[in-house]
Amino acid sequence: MHHPGVARRPPRFPLTPAVPAARSLLRSAAFTALFTAGLLLGRWTVPDGGALSLVSPGSGVAAVWFAVQRGAGTRPLDTALLAVTGVLVHALTGAGALLALTTATATVLQTLLFDALLHRWCPGAGPGRPLRGVRALLRLLAATGAAVAAGALVGPPAAWWQAGHVTWVDLPVWAARNGLSVLLLACVGLRLVATSARDGSAPVPCAPVARRRWAEGVTAFAVTAVAYAVQFTVPGVPDLVFLLPVLTVWAALRFCTRTVVWHSLFTGVAALVPTLLGHGPFAAEPDPALRALAGQGFAVLTTVIGLVLALGRDERDELLAEVRRQADDSQRQAEAAAMLTDALRSLNSAADTRQALCEATARITGADGVYLVEPDGRGDLVTRAVWGEGMVPVSTPADEPTVLADAFRRGAPVFVSDLSGHTGASGRLRDALGAVSVAYQPITATDGRTAGLLASVWRTRVQELPAQTRVVLATLAQEAAHGVERADLLAQLAVAAERDPLTGLANRRRWDETTTKEIARAIRSGLPLSFCLIDLDHFKRYNDTQGHLAGDDLLQEFAAAAAGCLREVDTLARWGGEEFVLALPGCSAAGARAVADRIRAAVPHGQTCTIGVAQWQPGLSAAEVVALADIALYEGKEAGRNTTVVSDTPAVTPAVAPAAPAPVA
Ligand code: GH3
Ligand code: MG
Ligand code: MG
Repeated sequence: MHHPGVARRPPRFPLTPAVPAARSLLRSAAFTALFTAGLLLGRWTVPDGGALSLVSPGSGVAAVWFAVQRGAGTRPLDTALLAVTGVLVHALTGAGALLALTTATATVLQTLLFDALLHRWCPGAGPGRPLRGVRALLRLLAATGAAVAAGALVGPPAAWWQAGHVTWVDLPVWAARNGLSVLLLACVGLRLVATSARDGSAPVPCAPVARRRWAEGVTAFAVTAVAYAVQFTVPGVPDLVFLLPVLTVWAALRFCTRTVVWHSLFTGVAALVPTLLGHGPFAAEPDPALRALAGQGFAVLTTVIGLVLALGRDERDELLAEVRRQADDSQRQAEAAAMLTDALRSLNSAADTRQALCEATARITGADGVYLVEPDGRGDLVTRAVWGEGMVPVSTPADEPTVLADAFRRGAPVFVSDLSGHTGASGRLRDALGAVSVAYQPITATDGRTAGLLASVWRTRVQELPAQTRVVLATLAQEAAHGVERADLLAQLAVAAERDPLTGLANRRRWDETTTKEIARAIRSGLPLSFCLIDLDHFKRYNDTQGHLAGDDLLQEFAAAAAGCLREVDTLARWGGEEFVLALPGCSAAGARAVADRIRAAVPHGQTCTIGVAQWQPGLSAAEVVALADIALYEGKEAGRNTTVVSDTPAVTPAVAPAAPAPVA
């Protein structure tokens, strides 16, 4: 059953093939040969009068054999070879039939159990897949111990049967020789300790081997060789065997785990061989089995010390590396946060949010240029802001099948490391600007629609956009949508604050600002300036007969029609209700009358209006000129409406003399 959310682990080994490959069969043959050699070596150490060999290299070979062949489909064949070879070698080297049978059975049992337990208790560890940490080593020791103990239930009793009496020392000898062999050969043969893993998992850290380290390694092995040789072969040397593990500690603290295992193998052989030959500190023991036991025990101890220290060191190094990685991550996150804060601050404080957004993006991505493209509402994506030297605005149809348009449509970021071969907008970017790499980051508005796209452009190739940059950019883009929306809203508000909502004309506030400027200009230039006050005739009646909404329409249509009679520089504003006010710079009263008459002729729906005109005179304020126009308007109403009346109020004495023309040199 497959649970959702739980990734199904691929099987560690391929399913057992129906027919083993020739290569697997060759391996089986090679292991059989090795196993035979191991058994023969062991049989050579059988003491006079004893039944069991004192060393068992065959146990280790068998352990490696089965782990290597796991999944190769040769398991029944290997088991048969293991059993038959065991029986034959024992029988042919003088072991009785019963001993040959039981020892072979014990070896098969021990080997199968070790393989199963290693697989179960040290998942992930296997041929070429190193153990991780002391805990895994303890599990390996437990697997070895359990397997050896199972074999010990069968092997030693058979030896007792053959010898005719029980020799309890056979039990520990069996356990020590098989345990040491399985442990050491498994570590070496299966590369359970190594500097790198074949399965792509992170390599076990190991100090880089410097030249000095090589020299130290050779020295360590040389010193070890001399020390063991002196201790184990020179007669009369004081018994300082308890000091020898110091050499293992040296190796374990200074060299990678693989070297430590080779060192343990080396010391194991250096201690065992002389001991078996009757030399060294353990030679005083007359019983060869007990002597061998002491040697085996010593070798097991040094091996375990070395492995515990080395694997513990590896574990600590791995932890340290992890801590360092996390510290680096935190550092990068802090930098990203600082970058983002900076960018957001500049967005909020900038006068031009879009420009600031492009600049902030360039700082984050390190791009040579940045564009902000937005839909123009007519099916095109157009550049609204651009940053960078030599960058020019681009535009592209939103439905074009290009990376840029596609990123916009999907609202998903896209990074293109190499634009060569690209067509459409990306190709145009490449040709026009020499863009080599681009990153498109969509900007999503609060309502979820894609509001725009930030395009970072590089002129030199960028292999990859770092994950941190992508995250910062995405966060900035998210905030940018708010910023741009807010900027647009503010701009709309600024416009609304100066416009009459019904007609879209300038309102009183805008009128006041404009007329102040126009009067100042008239003072400077000495040109005339006239104001008109326009009032629709009988508008109340129109409202009453046609309805208020029709009245509104008339106001709007009149505003548009009147504006159509004016120049760029003129300002038409809604004064209130059905009254409008008009500033005509550069127009005398006579000129203003002509304009007013044009406007009167343009009133829609057969309606009329009355217009009062007044020319600004130096010393008059805008309000005073409007007041004069109002008086004229009133006169026009009195005179029967639908007329233009020009104020004939005499000019007021100027409070400020018009600026004298500059003297001509
Ligand atoms: P007169 O020819 O003397 O100017 O007469 P009038 O009816 O045009 O003038 P009056 O001042 O008596 O009436 C102005 C009317 O304009 C009254 C008011 O209801 C109407 N009005 C003011 N603002 C609006 C508006 O925004 N929309 C509409 N539909 N009517 C408005
Ligand atoms: Mg009125
Ligand atoms: Mg009116």
